[in-house]
Amino acid sequence: MPAYTVVTFGCQMNQHDSDRIGEVLRGIGYLEVKEPADADLVVLNTCSIREKAEQKLRSEVGRLGMLKRLKPGLVIGVAGCMAQQEGERLAKRMPQIDFMLGPDNIAELPSILAEVELGAPPPIRTVFDLERPQFLNAEAEPGRTGPTAFVTVMKGCDERCTYCVVPHTRGPERYRNAREILDEIRRLVEAGVREVTLLGQTVNSYRDPAGSLGAAIGAGETHFKHTLRAVALEDESEFPALLRAICAEVPDLLRLRYTSPHPRHLTWSLILAHRDLPALARHVHMPVQSGSDRVLKRMLRRYSVEEYVERVEALRAEVPGVTFSTDVIVGFPGETAEDFAATLALAERVRFTGFFGFTYSERPNTPALKLADDVPEAEKSARLEQIFELTDRHRREHLESLRGTTELVLVERRGKAGDFMGRSERNEIVHFACAGDVIGQLVPVRITEAYNNSLRGELEPSFVLAPRPARAPAAPSALPKRRTLPVLAGA
Ligand code: SAM
Ligand code: SF4
Repeated sequence: MPAYTVVTFGCQMNQHDSDRIGEVLRGIGYLEVKEPADADLVVLNTCSIREKAEQKLRSEVGRLGMLKRLKPGLVIGVAGCMAQQEGERLAKRMPQIDFMLGPDNIAELPSILAEVELGAPPPIRTVFDLERPQFLNAEAEPGRTGPTAFVTVMKGCDERCTYCVVPHTRGPERYRNAREILDEIRRLVEAGVREVTLLGQTVNSYRDPAGSLGAAIGAGETHFKHTLRAVALEDESEFPALLRAICAEVPDLLRLRYTSPHPRHLTWSLILAHRDLPALARHVHMPVQSGSDRVLKRMLRRYSVEEYVERVEALRAEVPGVTFSTDVIVGFPGETAEDFAATLALAERVRFTGFFGFTYSERPNTPALKLADDVPEAEKSARLEQIFELTDRHRREHLESLRGTTELVLVERRGKAGDFMGRSERNEIVHFACAGDVIGQLVPVRITEAYNNSLRGELEPSFVLAPRPARAPAAPSALPKRRTLPVLAGA
């Protein structure tokens, strides 16, 4: 049996693609191995979202090239954004590469490998499937499917954030049929998955191409002020309807998350879905990028700081205890000390419990290339350090405030010390000990210690280790209100 390994760079979206690559390869008889040294085929699944992507790829390919000298039959493939963006050029520069595969071409892997075997020049398959977008189903494989899974609902991006390479590497927005999404989630849950994270670059702009969902409660209403009020009222997103359909049709799904929502599609209807659906996690990762309206405009983010905060506050009013994490870019072209101070002020106002900060880097084919990258690198790093310091403090204070509370933890796996590790509804990592196997169960854990990035606790004595009881299916109109969940002190 030939052996393969996939080396993944970048985000969850790339990990999700790597999983699909693995499924296609196992479907044609490949066996997965961990180490490239044991493999006949190595796929490097690349990410080009931030700098040094090519440098990283180059050093990986160089290392594999040495292995190839010892093992001439070794096939090296490059997948993902770098292949999509620079396939031709990279193939010329790195002759060790045998093929290039764009994110929309994973299903073509068997025919590409056949071409490679026949000795063809490196096939470069990087065509977007614009006419008939294809979404590879995630397979629910016994022994591989854990309690959590990602499910793609859309691909590509129609936003044009001026710093971002994604519209170029992933193409325009294409949505998956709601029926397909629901069937995939049902299959995953039957195989033991208990938490699903819906994936999309602007996941909450989702619409069902088959038009099967109908309007969700609150669709077309807005209770916010808007710079672009007409745009908000015309929001055609059906994402809240999708969330309601998932919870109604797959009642054994214990938790539902999504990433990443664009703030301009965080509609009133989505807030009502959060209020009504107990499975929807009380945590939202909502990238803000900057706390300065001037910078947001230059980034073409299409919302103001006030609009962002308004959504945060509306969600907090309807969903007590909801927490937020975010992405921020520091040192965007023209970012002044005042602009950066505004970002710090926003962080102070929202108090994010999770924070992903990046220094701006120029990306090929992006509109921001026309702006001078004028913030010195040392200043960018200093700003990043400063905002990390602030948000680290916010996270630590938040975790500290959870001491003595009871959190419902979805158990994901065993930890290093033989204990268990899971996540709370708000995405905090929780470690605890238990005599039985509780992986995949939702267990109440009393928090006893708070660390920098995680919590430790003890199982509530009331918890009885038993098979998880099946939940009765709930009709959408009869869905319990979130407040029927145990109220967590300090939440
Ligand atoms: N689609 C998501 C959104 O709109 O927020 C995330 C896109 S991207 C995969 C993840 C993060 O990378 C972005 O939120 C942004 O903070 C960061 N990023 C993207 N382009 C960047 C650039 N040129 N320089 C620095 N950070 C960048
Ligand atoms: Fe990039 Fe903006 Fe699209 Fe996110 S929304 S993928 S940052 S263009």
